[in-house]
Amino acid sequence: MKIPWAVYAILGLIVIVTSSLIDGMQAFIIIGVFFLFMGLVRFMTRPKSMPEREPRTDAKYVKCPSCKAWNYPTAKHCHYCKKMMP
Ligand SMILES: [Zn+2]
Repeated sequence: MKIPWAVYAILGLIVIVTSSLIDGMQAFIIIGVFFLFMGLVRFMTRPKSMPEREPRTDAKYVKCPSCKAWNYPTAKHCHYCKKMMP
């Protein structure tokens, strides 16, 4: 289950604010801080998904099997020999 970091951070803030306003709920501030911390950790680990996009640059162009010309992967026909792309 993937919970966005913002959910943790917002939940943490709500818990901190509400527990600090209500008497006898001060102990819950720790839980709020924990949630806020979880949100921050998830926010910090978030850029890890970025390098996954890197290998896609290899698939930027596809080679035509008959004339070896480079074509866009979206191209249905080779731009050079007009042959059908695989
Ligand atoms: Zn070709």
